Amino acid sequence: MKQQKILITGAFGQLGTALTQALITKYGSDAIVATDLNIRDEFTCATIKLDATNIEALDEIVRQQKITQIYHLAAILSAKGEELPLQTWDLNNSTFFNVLEVARLNDIKKVFFPSSIAVFGPDARSEKVATDFALHPTTVYGISKVAGEHWARYYNLKYNLDVRCLRYPGLISYQSLPGGGTTDYAVDIFHKAINGQDFESYLKEDTQLPMLYMDDAIEATLQLMEAPKEAIKTVGYNIQGLSFSPVELLTAIQKYIPDFTATYKPDHRQAIAESWPISLDDKPAREEWGWKPKFDLDKMTQEMLKQLELKKN
Ligand code: NAD
Repeated sequence: MKQQKILITGAFGQLGTALTQALITKYGSDAIVATDLNIRDEFTCATIKLDATNIEALDEIVRQQKITQIYHLAAILSAKGEELPLQTWDLNNSTFFNVLEVARLNDIKKVFFPSSIAVFGPDARSEKVATDFALHPTTVYGISKVAGEHWARYYNLKYNLDVRCLRYPGLISYQSLPGGGTTDYAVDIFHKAINGQDFESYLKEDTQLPMLYMDDAIEATLQLMEAPKEAIKTVGYNIQGLSFSPVELLTAIQKYIPDFTATYKPDHRQAIAESWPISLDDKPAREEWGWKPKFDLDKMTQEMLKQLELKKN
């Protein structure tokens, strides 16, 4: 079998920091090329500065490095996207389009596209929302992810390009800070708790949203990408890990830090949160490629507090 060589765009963001390391561990440093607008000396693999809006630059790296797979993570996220709607549409679509075209022209076999629960709209604000529920997003970010899923399907049908998409919920990790999403509070709260600071939530205390601990997100991504092609029958897979509200997360943290408190001052992100599902039905992911989360709220809370404490010292 041909040796895999994987290029990651947006490799130094919240997901990329953890996923790139997991791919290095799995495939070895020589098999990975981490790219981003700004790069740091953080990984043992090759790191290359790349603006993914530049198709010529992307094409050159793919040819030079003999890339066989692309994980396309570069994007503007939901909350920031509402401040910069046209820029978000442009960036999210043009970069994915560049990845698809470069993949097609260079005979790349497999592409990963991170979709999001933002593909759903207010009519899906309920529990156990099915993978094939209607997609009526009301954020520009969500619209760009729906378009991305459609383009993935198109390149698959037309050019036999194997593009796989996961609809991540809010991702919770200790490795790096999140980059402008609506679920960022669920990472920020842990940093405040560890540093003995007060926490002010920009969501109402009872606003439940789907979330996923990063280890589970990485596991799901690797499982999806390694599944045999015949097993993949769905373009955008729902994956459900946890669903909780700010006050439920606060209570989970207070079990270990009893004097930690929070106040609630909802801002513009409240409307975005209320346009998304409370929880997801992820039956296709479970049945087609064996998805099963490992982290519940308490296990995730313990792990986040432990890892952030270690980082602090
Ligand atoms: P992030 O904002 O932390 O990281 C995005 C990275 O993309 C950054 O490092 C940024 O420098 C890079 N980038 C931006 N513009 C670029 C460009 N023109 N060229 C190259 N790189 C560029 O985001 P993240 O949380 O790591 O998200 C990664 C992917 O996962 C995104 O597509 C996002 O939509 C998706 N996702 C994330 C979450 C979450 O909770 N973090 C949830 C659902 C989906």
